[in-house]
Amino acid sequence: MNILLLGSGGREHALAWKLSQSPNCTQLFIAPGNPGTAQFGKNLSFSVTDFEAITNCCIEEKIDMVIVGPEEPLVKGIYDHLKINPELKQLLIIGPSQYGAQLEGSKAFAKAFMQRHNIPTAAYKEFTLDNYAEGVQYIQQHNLPIVLKADGLAAGKGVVICQTHIEAMAEFELMIQQAKFGDASKKVVVEEFLSGIELSVFALTDGEHYVLLPNAKDYKRIGEGDTGLNTGGMGAISPVPLATPAFMQKVEEQIVKPTIKGLQSEKINYTGFVFIGLISVNDNPYVIEYNCRMGDPETEVVLPRLQNDLVELLTAAANKQLATQTILTDPRAAATIVAVSAGYPGNFEKGFVISGHNEHYGKQSIVFQAGTTEKEGEVVTNGGRVLCITSYANDIQEAVNTSLDVLSNINYEGITYRTDIGYEFK
Ligand code: ATP
Repeated sequence: MNILLLGSGGREHALAWKLSQSPNCTQLFIAPGNPGTAQFGKNLSFSVTDFEAITNCCIEEKIDMVIVGPEEPLVKGIYDHLKINPELKQLLIIGPSQYGAQLEGSKAFAKAFMQRHNIPTAAYKEFTLDNYAEGVQYIQQHNLPIVLKADGLAAGKGVVICQTHIEAMAEFELMIQQAKFGDASKKVVVEEFLSGIELSVFALTDGEHYVLLPNAKDYKRIGEGDTGLNTGGMGAISPVPLATPAFMQKVEEQIVKPTIKGLQSEKINYTGFVFIGLISVNDNPYVIEYNCRMGDPETEVVLPRLQNDLVELLTAAANKQLATQTILTDPRAAATIVAVSAGYPGNFEKGFVISGHNEHYGKQSIVFQAGTTEKEGEVVTNGGRVLCITSYANDIQEAVNTSLDVLSNINYEGITYRTDIGYEFK
């Protein structure tokens, strides 16, 4: 099978690593990829939103399956674009239709979907310029803290948790009246604050059946002890100790099954990953968000623990035969630590030579590349998140320590990382 994987982060390096282990993977292409993905296939230089180049590649390289890594092409409709092409009738696509991708692309769509299917989530109301005054009143009467969410994609910055009504009203005005996030904040979801521990659950669905991949928890803040600014993710662990069998049963019955049933009953074309961001409140799961693709850096701990042949699994999903699949999970824990550029998530410099990333660190550790590129034969930094160091061990703490040992051998100017990933589970 010839496969085209879209994306260029640590998630895509992990996907390429896993896909290439399958005897069913004949040729792997990654667009645009990074020097890490190039170890497992051929990088192509077009972007994930260049739909014409993607189409041409599928035709010219006789691609059998396209796997979409990031959300942007899905929300912009890559599935529908490829599906209507008569030359690509046999193409399998891992990723939902544009309509289905609204589960991630529109927070109001996701909230209404959850409400229709009785899926536990924070109470909310949505507002636009048309019912602005009603929104002000709703905020004034709301308990604190209060959560404001720009409806559309806002690069992970569209959620603001406000501690006072004044702050919430100012933010509401900024989002709706002053288009703080452009069209993405023309509509705003105002919701109740939920207090608890967050974790992520990943379903792979064929639109009717599903399998659950290993669960994970990511660490978004830049600083130790979850302090400072939000980032794309500074590390992740799997499994999450609070995801006991009893908790996971609640997740399946109250959230995963109604979600998949909801997609099916509403005839939403959805083949691919449903990433469910959860919060556990008094041991009961509530949905914080849906994403229509795998997470980054969660993929870097989920796929290393997945023992199935990923190509076989994805082919079954695309052919609506997921009911035939059983997930096999490595019993070991996995942790990944993300090494970032100095200054990230603010301004940072690029182009620093990386050393130590290509050493062999034994079977228990893998170095995934994210924001890297090749320059004059050397791998250099090219983004905020540079490398993800994943390790396996008997428990999370040991896995984190193993990744820290590996990191002590890796260097580039300004290398920065958290040393406390998984700290709550010590
Ligand atoms: P991402 O960067 O994950 O794509 P996003 O912009 O899609 O983020 P959400 O994931 O919906 O936004 O929210 C971001 C974060 O805000 C969550 O991870 C959670 O910590 C916090 N959050 C969101 N909604 C709530 C809520 N109702 N109660 C408490 N915290 C919340």
